[in-house]
Amino acid sequence: MQDEFSRERDKMVEEQIAARGVTDPKVLAAMGKVPRHLFVSEAMKAYAYQDEPLPIGEGQTISQPYIVAYMTEVLGLQGGEKVLEVGTGSGYQTAVLAEIARDVYTIELVEFLSLKAQEVLGGLGYPNIRFKIGDGTTGWKDDAPYDAIVVTAAPGSVPKALRDQLKISGRMIIPVGVEFQELVLVVREPQTFKEKRLLPVRFVPLVSIH
Ligand code: SAH
Repeated sequence: MQDEFSRERDKMVEEQIAARGVTDPKVLAAMGKVPRHLFVSEAMKAYAYQDEPLPIGEGQTISQPYIVAYMTEVLGLQGGEKVLEVGTGSGYQTAVLAEIARDVYTIELVEFLSLKAQEVLGGLGYPNIRFKIGDGTTGWKDDAPYDAIVVTAAPGSVPKALRDQLKISGRMIIPVGVEFQELVLVVREPQTFKEKRLLPVRFVPLVSIH
């Protein structure tokens, strides 16, 4: 997409994402295409392509670009997948997923944030995103199982309901922890779940209302 931020976006991909080791061409292309400045407020637009998370209202944040790219790459998406996202927030990660996967299901607890994300993503014309307002800790059962799950708020431990909604060989990336958090990759195997700790991070807490 050509817009007044194209050059900044290309620079972001090169200096923040590729330079730190993200190599998947699908992820780099999606990060180079999604107009991140449309997912932040007018006041934050000038900072949209900087190497940091930004406030999006309601005490929530849009994740740092590198973290969005990293979490997406770890899922190993090829293009035909059905993906669940918990924590729509601004909808930015949702757009990156929708560029690559076949279908994206996204859940947000805060109604105002979901409606705002629906407006922005609707304006960009993604036909493959479905939205739900509510507690994503229990997943989205009707359309389970998923090839991949992305959680963008941190629980104290991996919610069982989310694990159970992964297909065999399905992958989930999730920040886990209260004071100290790490990104954890969960891979479902026929009889078990394999967990791998990847990277220290800081996410807002996953609020559970159950
Ligand atoms: N991926 C987002 C990051 C948003 S921050 C982006 O790129 O903008 C995490 C989001 O998770 C917040 O919007 C928060 O309201 C939401 N959240 C917290 N607990 C939740 C829950 N139990 N279910 C669904 N969403 C939740």
